[in-house]
Amino acid sequence: MCNEFRKDGSVVLVRSLKVNPKDILRPKGVYAETDFKEEQLVLKDQMLAGAQHSSNKVDCLVCSYCFCFIGSIELQIGRKLYLEQLGVSPHDECRMQKDCYNSDASVEEDDSDVEDQQASGECSSSPSKDKISLPKDVVESLFNGEMQLPYSEKFSLPPIVSCPGGCKENYYCSKSCAEADWESFHSLLCTGEGSKSLSSKALQKFIEHANDTNDIFLLAAKVISFTILRHKKLKESRHEGKGKQVISESIDFSLLGEAWKPVSMGYKRRWWDCIALPADVDGSDEASFRMQMKELALTVILLGPDVTCLRFPPSLQSAESLQLLKEAIFDEECQPLFSLEIYGNIIGMFELNNLDLVVESPVEDYFLYIDDLPLSEKGEVEQTTKPILDALGDDYSICCQGTAFFPLQSCMNHSCRPNAKAFKREEDRDGQATIIALQPIAKGEEITISYIDEDLPFEERQALLADYGFRCGCSKCLEET
Ligand SMILES: [Zn+2]
Ligand SMILES: [Zn+2]
Ligand SMILES: [Zn+2]
Repeated sequence: MCNEFRKDGSVVLVRSLKVNPKDILRPKGVYAETDFKEEQLVLKDQMLAGAQHSSNKVDCLVCSYCFCFIGSIELQIGRKLYLEQLGVSPHDECRMQKDCYNSDASVEEDDSDVEDQQASGECSSSPSKDKISLPKDVVESLFNGEMQLPYSEKFSLPPIVSCPGGCKENYYCSKSCAEADWESFHSLLCTGEGSKSLSSKALQKFIEHANDTNDIFLLAAKVISFTILRHKKLKESRHEGKGKQVISESIDFSLLGEAWKPVSMGYKRRWWDCIALPADVDGSDEASFRMQMKELALTVILLGPDVTCLRFPPSLQSAESLQLLKEAIFDEECQPLFSLEIYGNIIGMFELNNLDLVVESPVEDYFLYIDDLPLSEKGEVEQTTKPILDALGDDYSICCQGTAFFPLQSCMNHSCRPNAKAFKREEDRDGQATIIALQPIAKGEEITISYIDEDLPFEERQALLADYGFRCGCSKCLEET
């Protein structure tokens, strides 16, 4: 983390942007520290934690850290068809409604000349409908790399790197992604032999529970694991300076607060405002942090029914999930992280602040490329590719989908007349969030994005924004009242 935490409580994340703390004069928000032109890239926000939807894992094999596609076009296709033939089909239905959120745009799209493009693969399609299956040996030779498709070299993908802990769950695009994931999250959440968890059995149960109920639990586990690992590192570096090991009997709240800081960046809306940790660690003491924790727990209890917004999981599920996670990775020194209040808060934060993680598929690009070949060549090439496309059906275009938490983007305030938006450009092929300016933005101006569809009528907008705990008073809303 190279964030610079300033004395006034503001945080400079990249040289062109600044996050101001919430104060009386100005609400917490992201402000431009330089001028931006229309359509200029304002920021690429590295996610703090992200997770691919479990229902999407059969369709796309992506790096577990940066979410780019890995292996090869043949492997992506072969693996999906192979798993389908084995009967692994997690997408009989859309498990969560939000999986379908983004499909509007593609449904409205004009019929293009790409064949069979009625419904896009946004929401995984129904199995075997309109599909002509491939012989088993063809699927296997695609999967194991024996068969090479024409022109696939133009869409080469990074080779697969296995998890250093030896699980068969996580794969990477590079050694550096594997190491970064191991250091930040995965060493505690790996189910392989090298796992640093207390019990891989409990961990396995936790993962299954999340897959069956709400995969946001996986994201919450990542954030907790991130904090524990960061706490450990901070403690080690602190003790290095002192020369001898200090065995602490009680929880070091300021250290835990420091470890939690990157996560607290995202605590902006509603009750989690009050968990914002002091910017200056030396100034923060145990008592004030404890009080904040209490206050937080109390507010959650007070706001209980209000918290139950559409997608908030029933508390029983959260409690079950937390119990399993505790058995798997409990850490005495980070004990406050394992309270149901904090866990509920992390879940709540993701429910409102989470952002769809979408990475376009190179398999789709490949078939579009084949479709665009000059007729003289196309006929011959399609003798090979057409049966494969028929076997995939509409699924050829399924992109990588998941949920991620972007700390800086989640600090951006809402406006129904935003000056920036999240937008994936052609070259953005990983899980980072990209924000571009919709209009010129001057230095010192606040950067705003829209949390909702800003073209909806006034009342509908306010109703949707009520979920975020505020009434919008942007210029557009003021004009319409
Ligand atoms: Zn990667
Ligand atoms: Zn692993
Ligand atoms: Zn508004």
